[in-house]
Amino acid sequence: DIHFDYKIAIESIKAGVDKVRINPGNIGAKWKVREIAKVAKDYNVPIRVGANSGSLKKEYLSKYDGDFANALVESALDEIRILESVGFEDIVVALKSSDVLTTIRANQLISQKVDYPLHLGITEAGPSLFGTIKSSLGIGYLLLQGIGNTIRVSLSDEPEREVIVGRLILRSIGLEEGVEIVSCPTCSRTEIDVIEVAKLVFERTIHIKKKLKIAVMGCIVNGIGESENADIGIAGVRNGAVLFKDGKIIGTFSEEEALNELLKYIETISHPEVERPS
Ligand code: SF4
Repeated sequence: DIHFDYKIAIESIKAGVDKVRINPGNIGAKWKVREIAKVAKDYNVPIRVGANSGSLKKEYLSKYDGDFANALVESALDEIRILESVGFEDIVVALKSSDVLTTIRANQLISQKVDYPLHLGITEAGPSLFGTIKSSLGIGYLLLQGIGNTIRVSLSDEPEREVIVGRLILRSIGLEEGVEIVSCPTCSRTEIDVIEVAKLVFERTIHIKKKLKIAVMGCIVNGIGESENADIGIAGVRNGAVLFKDGKIIGTFSEEEALNELLKYIETISHPEVERPS
């Protein structure tokens, strides 16, 4: 991810990077971009043209009277034309803003103008919860419109969290296979610690890349009905919990035992060589 110094981009390519990102807002004169493109072509390395609303050149913003979406598009298109002028077309385009609506509009516009792959993200999206919501809305909305090829979630949080959020965005709209957890919001009928159980099940299953629906429900009154489509689930009953599979109860346990049985089942899903409990 190179800013300001075109020589570093060239040296990075020669050193073996898989892809290089340049920022049209600060990489400098056209001849510098052409030099990067020539080396990238020789080394068969793609270039991402990554325009960011925080580093747009003033001329673009003035031209569009402060309309960041159009300014981002034109900034990227100008850089793309420089790359194409030396026959370089191994291009990925990213137009990012910390504003969700600007990011959506910029990507909608560019998707009508170029056929290059688009990399999506809400840049500097914010602290964990807020950034997750902004990223889900922005990235999710575009993906649901069929726009976008790769994604990056940008949070003021641990990088691992960014990866988890990205995967859950893809999973939520059916673009990645994995475990889906259906869990109830709790109410006065709740008989088990739904919040803790759901959290534990989530932590134990986030890595599993198999289509599986697990229900964690506070009571049996609505629990089984609400989770009819789940593959396996737990629902609270007075002084314990039941486990159910495909909508049918398979046993009544103490809350602790039911949770252990559920986790055992999850373990066999993660390691299919272990025999599953019947
Ligand atoms: S499943 Fe039961 S405990 Fe959970 S919200 Fe519905 S009625 Fe309440």
